Amino acid sequence: MKYTELPLIPFSPPRMDQAIIDEVIDTLKSGWITTGPKTKKLEQQLTEYAGHRKTLCLNSASAGLELILRWYGVGEGDEVILPAYTYTATANVVIHAGAKPVFVDVLPNFNIDPDEIRKHITSKTKVIMPVDIGGFPADYESINSIVNESDIKKLFNPSNGHQQKLGRILILSDAAHSLGATVNGVKAGNLTDVTVYSFHAVKNLTTAEGGAICLNLPMDFDVDEIYKELNIKSLHGQSKDAFAKSQIGNWRYDVLEAGYKCNMTDISAAMGLVELSRYDDDMLLKRKYIFDRYTNGLKDYAWAQIPEYETDHIKSSYHVYMLRINGVSEVYRDQIIEKIFAQKVSVNVHFMPLPMMTYYRNLGYSIADTPNAFIEYAREISLPVYYDLTDEQIDRVIQAVIEAAEEVIKERSKA
Ligand SMILES: *Cc1c(COP(=O)(O)O)cnc(C)c1O
Repeated sequence: MKYTELPLIPFSPPRMDQAIIDEVIDTLKSGWITTGPKTKKLEQQLTEYAGHRKTLCLNSASAGLELILRWYGVGEGDEVILPAYTYTATANVVIHAGAKPVFVDVLPNFNIDPDEIRKHITSKTKVIMPVDIGGFPADYESINSIVNESDIKKLFNPSNGHQQKLGRILILSDAAHSLGATVNGVKAGNLTDVTVYSFHAVKNLTTAEGGAICLNLPMDFDVDEIYKELNIKSLHGQSKDAFAKSQIGNWRYDVLEAGYKCNMTDISAAMGLVELSRYDDDMLLKRKYIFDRYTNGLKDYAWAQIPEYETDHIKSSYHVYMLRINGVSEVYRDQIIEKIFAQKVSVNVHFMPLPMMTYYRNLGYSIADTPNAFIEYAREISLPVYYDLTDEQIDRVIQAVIEAAEEVIKERSKA
């Protein structure tokens, strides 16, 4: 173990440099630290960046997903289709809303399988939540067209005004990983009805905690009106936010509903503004560079399956490098991970499918119903990707993976 003297390579620390520190300090000194001018500016810039119709920033992606489910009136008796292969936030918000998550199986690229979606649609289905795993967009072309098929539309059973107006299943994209990804040059945010980004500390654009709803509903929906409705829902149902109330003579407000509390602070927005201003030309380029270097270092090994992150018309946001090891079981994959960590390299697994988690197992879900999700999970290892990763560190990661994989495969062939 020749690397043990070296410091641990972390998995995905945030990029925190002087530009971010300066912008945060500027906010701290400005006299306004919660939702205010910087949050509104970030919303405008995100709208310009991805080209959808309107953006609302919040304190997390989870809050954004849940607000949209509630706005669409999803609740008791309804079903929401989502991939078994995702982070638990995607499913937990469905539970919070009182509806039933319907887990479906995934394609070899880890994303939800449109044919499996079709098989699981019932008259109770209200929303489909595709997830752009690792930053690679789901197949929105197929998913957008499935919900518009006449037989599928006939099954749809609207129970309120918004559902009646849309007249079909809503597509709510979990783009926690995929800000910056494109399909035919169109950015995530703009690929379906509603998209939600996450700016959590491990995501590729971070505000420490944060998220945003990108509204891209059909043109007969008034997105300015929906923005107001969602904003009210995010702030205890108040008719005005704290910034509006702070203006001269503007103290009076009303409470329109028992809303939630999930607004973004200007301190967070300050980080987001700096990150977004250099996202395409700096952050994404660096991430692509790291991806390509891993690919070049690993592609010649028969046991290494390189993740899909670029095609002729699809580009990832290069969020997670999801390597798979060919021909190993979960146990051997775990041994490889242990040996990689022994060389002071942090790796991870994205994700253990949700039907394997205690809470969902206890609800009666079984991984046997989504066999592909298990097959991909059992041989997946996510490699570190972050802005400050150096060439020397990337090469150390590659070397650690090669040594660990070859050792375990050799021991296994003897056994
Ligand atoms: C991180 C993540 C979320 C949740 O994001 P938060 O901003 O932490 O709420 C949702 N879905 C996926 C796939 C994620 O990785």
